[in-house]
Amino acid sequence: METRRYPALIVNREAVYENTCKLVDWCDENGIFVAGVIKGFNANRAACEEEIRGGVKMLASSRLEHLSDVKEWGLKNIDGVDMPTLLIRMPMLSEIDDVVRIADYSLNSEMATLDALDAAAAKQGRTHSVILMTDLGDLREGWFEEQDLIAAALHTENDLDNLYLAGIGTNLGCVGSIMPNKDKMEELAERATAVETAIGRTLDIVSGGASTSLMPMFDGVMPSKVNMLRLGESIPISLRDQLGTTHDRYPIGELRQDCFTLAAEIIELNTKPTYPIGEIGADAFGRKREYIDRGNRKRVILAVGRADYGDTYDIIPELDGAIIWGASSDHTILDIEDVAAEIRDNLKVGDILTFKVRYAAMMHLSSNKLTVHQYEE
Ligand SMILES: *Cc1c(COP(=O)(O)O)cnc(C)c1O
Repeated sequence: METRRYPALIVNREAVYENTCKLVDWCDENGIFVAGVIKGFNANRAACEEEIRGGVKMLASSRLEHLSDVKEWGLKNIDGVDMPTLLIRMPMLSEIDDVVRIADYSLNSEMATLDALDAAAAKQGRTHSVILMTDLGDLREGWFEEQDLIAAALHTENDLDNLYLAGIGTNLGCVGSIMPNKDKMEELAERATAVETAIGRTLDIVSGGASTSLMPMFDGVMPSKVNMLRLGESIPISLRDQLGTTHDRYPIGELRQDCFTLAAEIIELNTKPTYPIGEIGADAFGRKREYIDRGNRKRVILAVGRADYGDTYDIIPELDGAIIWGASSDHTILDIEDVAAEIRDNLKVGDILTFKVRYAAMMHLSSNKLTVHQYEE
């Protein structure tokens, strides 16, 4: 094995592959194809490759930079065709030329942006495919009124020769926390039918949302018209946090939790009091904190901090009995007093400890390759 540098974010290829295969199969049984959303791990190449091997049909991101990597690497799908890319944040006018150059598809919700995409595509001699978003109440992007969605579809279909209207889509369970359910999915299907009637042909894609739209699918209430989901978080992280105790009722309870692991090195190990000594002010981030005096306890300092992973809530020590006592930008202190003695008493400076990561930590850790080293297994 190569000599590693720390802190490290380790991607387990097999775990990403297995999770992707399962999700792709479950979706396939419901007539749904998967776009793998790679923004949450900042287009980590190994993870992108395993999602492709597992059968996702497109790679999608909110950031053009991620899609640009996919194109530059020349990633091909399992049929040997260049992996189609999908931009899932509505394009900025300031990036329109790059959108047409880098993304094969984009999600859209503004007429002005469609016009600009059409002009850029004309200039580049390409056809760019668009999916028009409709807002079903989550109140982020999309045409809110069906008639406005239809007007945008007609404009794209009839007036914009360099755009291909590939379909419509929606986003739920996001800013407005609205659960995708039978009613919302049926509303989407009805809107798709209304657009098809208006333009006089069928749409290729009806995109039912992100990972949370798996639930109506598992519940067996997904209308057959919905044929695509954009899956980010559910592939590497499952959906434990969103679903809480209902998680294990769904098949995603089977997904592996070890796709991404944080590894950090012990740089101090000793026994210290648990109540700070002196006048208590604020911590490194200016926050007042309560301390509980639990006497002297064994602890370690790890060379990793909030600059790397964000919030301590988002990392979970794999060492049984260890708890995070506190963290600053570059240090994380673990209380290891309650770790089984035969393990605890053999730990030493230079040892590596590992953490499971939640979505936000995966996102932060993968974003800074300068200070968080990336490896694959
Ligand atoms: C981030 C995003 C997704 C993926 O969301 P997950 O919850 O990670 O599955 C899908 N669609 C859009 C428009 C997004 O912004």
